[in-house]
Amino acid sequence: MKIDVLTLFPDMFKSLDHSIVGRARALGQVDMSFINFRDFSTNKHHKVDDYPYGGGAGMLLTPQPIFDAFDSIEAKSPRVILTTPTGKPFNQQMAEEWAREEHLIFLCGHYEGFDQRIHDELATDEVSIGDFVLTGGELATMVMIDATVRLLPDVLGDQASHEDDSFSTGLLEYPHYTRPAEFRGLKVPDVLLSGNHARIETWRREQSLARTYRRRPDLLEQIELTEDDKKFLQS
Ligand code: SAM
Repeated sequence: MKIDVLTLFPDMFKSLDHSIVGRARALGQVDMSFINFRDFSTNKHHKVDDYPYGGGAGMLLTPQPIFDAFDSIEAKSPRVILTTPTGKPFNQQMAEEWAREEHLIFLCGHYEGFDQRIHDELATDEVSIGDFVLTGGELATMVMIDATVRLLPDVLGDQASHEDDSFSTGLLEYPHYTRPAEFRGLKVPDVLLSGNHARIETWRREQSLARTYRRRPDLLEQIELTEDDKKFLQS
């Protein structure tokens, strides 16, 4: 996969040199470029922002540097993701869809955001990472890159390790325990030590359902529940 990021702060993306994403880059599973669109400004002071027409507080990113930086990218992605709090909320399904693409382009905003013509002409997806306002699109882009790259084939050692993740199944994940079986008097549930895989599967499904019911009941409305699921939730 190829990822191009248009940003005023390429150095912020150094954190993607580390951990699983860093290893995926080192192995050539993903190729990332961070393009500073200030370098494309034709303004003699390399300005990239200007006052909003109609007045109001703050500055907006002007179209010229971003359009020219975008035009410098060779193969154009069918997916051009513009970061904005006014966008569609990012979720696991979007990460799964993007992980099947060959090329993604992210546009990171700053100041009060982008001139609307950048939204209208360049973006295929306008995406928010939550109902809050960040100072720029860089952290949002890193969040989305991390969530997407870990889903690429062979990036996580054990493929199953993301298939059971929260949201992949439509539910929140069940609780996990590791060794020791007892720590400071706190015991691992007996069922997990039983070696009975069918019972463990049932327990995990019920824990997922109960946790989702308590914390994110909205998710239960979006999935098809089995008869056993419904019986458990009514109990
Ligand atoms: N004036 C904008 C508004 O109220 O919708 C907020 C602009 S914000 C200060 C500057 C930039 O940060 C945005 O252009 C966007 O790239 C990024 N940003 C801020 N919050 C975000 C969020 N929740 N999700 C994604 N990007 C965000």
